[in-house]
Amino acid sequence: MSPRIPLVDLAAAHAEVAHAVQAGFAEVLATTGFVGGPQVAGFEREYAAFGGVRHCVGVANGTDAVELALRAVGVVAGDEVIVPANTFAATAGAVARIGAKPVFVDCDPATCLIDVPAALAAIGPATKAIVPVHLYGQLAPVEELQAGLAGSAGSAVRIVEDAAQCQGATRLGRTPGSGPGAIAATSFYPGKNLGAYGDGGAVLTDDEDLAAAVRKLGSHGGLVKYAHDIAGVNSRLDALQAVVLRAKLRRLPEWNAARQAAAAYYDKLLAGLDQVTLPTTLPGNEHVWHLYTVQVPERDAVLARLEAEGIGAGIHYPVPLHRTGAFATGASYPHAEHVAAHTLSLPLHPHLMREQQEIVVAALARALSAQPSRP
Ligand SMILES: *Cc1c(COP(=O)(O)O)cnc(C)c1O
Repeated sequence: MSPRIPLVDLAAAHAEVAHAVQAGFAEVLATTGFVGGPQVAGFEREYAAFGGVRHCVGVANGTDAVELALRAVGVVAGDEVIVPANTFAATAGAVARIGAKPVFVDCDPATCLIDVPAALAAIGPATKAIVPVHLYGQLAPVEELQAGLAGSAGSAVRIVEDAAQCQGATRLGRTPGSGPGAIAATSFYPGKNLGAYGDGGAVLTDDEDLAAAVRKLGSHGGLVKYAHDIAGVNSRLDALQAVVLRAKLRRLPEWNAARQAAAAYYDKLLAGLDQVTLPTTLPGNEHVWHLYTVQVPERDAVLARLEAEGIGAGIHYPVPLHRTGAFATGASYPHAEHVAAHTLSLPLHPHLMREQQEIVVAALARALSAQPSRP
């Protein structure tokens, strides 16, 4: 049975763009230009303008975007790349696919963003890059990382931003991937703020050479047919996805504003529940609320009670990466572990109604006041 109040509502989003999507699909089908072509070029141009960067290179998915951005800045097998322990597995998976080693660091306990001093302290002779993750829809303090790297032994360390969850977000007026030498990766997985009808992703940068490197890596290592300068991969955004993304991009500012309004209303409704730790926005951030995450005691029991009431809550993410089978290390990152054990994502999407939020919060209050379930 699908939940009464779902975590996301992709059908409502589709209803708004259905007409434009159908018209665009018809055009692509008529021309049979399924890979590349004017829809992809048009989307890349429009997303670059929206994202405040000079170049947007469409790729097959967000994981590829992280991998190709890392490879473009020179990460190769054997290098170390610093990654927060509390992120989606793809951030570390992209590092591992290059043959490089993810080195985990803890997060700030309030914002859940990368702990900048910890990241700087983790730099060693093999460190090639740091991947700050713009988690839940707000940007990590990249400028603090930059300042920490400047002039130090870390000045050769590159920053590759994982911007999968923050389409439209800014920090101190800056967008991901903008500025000298900067590069960011994003994902158009259907559930992201800007979601395709399948997989998609993009690399964002102002740097022409980095953009060209990503494009080359993603098109079999060459920009001219049958000229393969380097060993590349096949990672392209297809034309049908570009149609969807162009239609949705026109709605994105409005959809992000609706997410912000819903987040503010949750803040207000939850203010009276003292067992609930509200999400923290870092000063200087324009947050686009990919996820509205609170922290609660006895999270698993609370989640089960919400599910029983038809509330589609979620956990992002239940296991910190250093505790997963793929990336287990003996180390401990206490803040990341605390977040993983207590975090709870409440339903949040642009079409969520105030009455639904009130139902969610009433159910959460009941779940929190229920007796602890016996083991
Ligand atoms: C979604 C996501 C990715 C990966 O994107 P895909 O398109 O699913 O490959 C990477 N990093 C983070 C933080 C994400 O949320």
